[in-house]
Amino acid sequence: MTSKSTFLKVILLGDGGVGKSSLMNRYVTNKFDTHLFHTIGVEFLNKELDVDGHRVTLQIWDTAGQERFRSLRTPFYRGSDCCLLTFSLDDSQSFHNLANWKKEFTYYADVKDPKSFPFVVLGNKLDVPERQVSGEDVRKWCRENGGYPYFETSAKDAVNVTSGFEEAVRRILASCDRDEHLIHTNTVHLQRKSQSEDGCC
Ligand code: GDP
Repeated sequence: MTSKSTFLKVILLGDGGVGKSSLMNRYVTNKFDTHLFHTIGVEFLNKELDVDGHRVTLQIWDTAGQERFRSLRTPFYRGSDCCLLTFSLDDSQSFHNLANWKKEFTYYADVKDPKSFPFVVLGNKLDVPERQVSGEDVRKWCRENGGYPYFETSAKDAVNVTSGFEEAVRRILASCDRDEHLIHTNTVHLQRKSQSEDGCC
């Protein structure tokens, strides 16, 4: 295990109300708060963790999913090492909208090859009984889009939230070994990478 930390940026995208802020809050603070303020544009939290012997500082960016915030959130896509595409299992429209979120991210983050970029899909609100989306349909979509990992989560009950974020880190580390998607990142991010003494790429 190395004591040096690699800085990684992940971004949560998905419709408003699917639970992005709650997932970030659950992961970073291990709390679930039903009275979270609505995200306006973007906000982020940092978390340090060890994954498979790598010490990582994860910067998690939460975004406002509403259309009216599009111009506020999209400038923050560049430099992301992973995108967590999030929907709610009790809202089929939020699942169908994943394709739009992926498209928006790919465009504004300037991702050249979406099939090899580390996307992770989170189906949140597993605890809600009125489920509208089958795991089979999501896994099919993930396969068709490049084999993205899929987790069914509950921010409320703390189910699979840690697994989802840790998988994001694993995907990034694997892609750093494999290709050069970080070439497309912005200058600030590259500066941060070079400041990190143990950059993975
Ligand atoms: P965001 O707009 O995507 O950031 O969604 P929020 O995190 O603000 O959550 C929207 C609503 O869904 C809030 O009322 C949350 O309390 C609720 N919520 C978030 N995650 C869960 C979950 O896992 N289960 C349930 N039952 N409700 C959730």
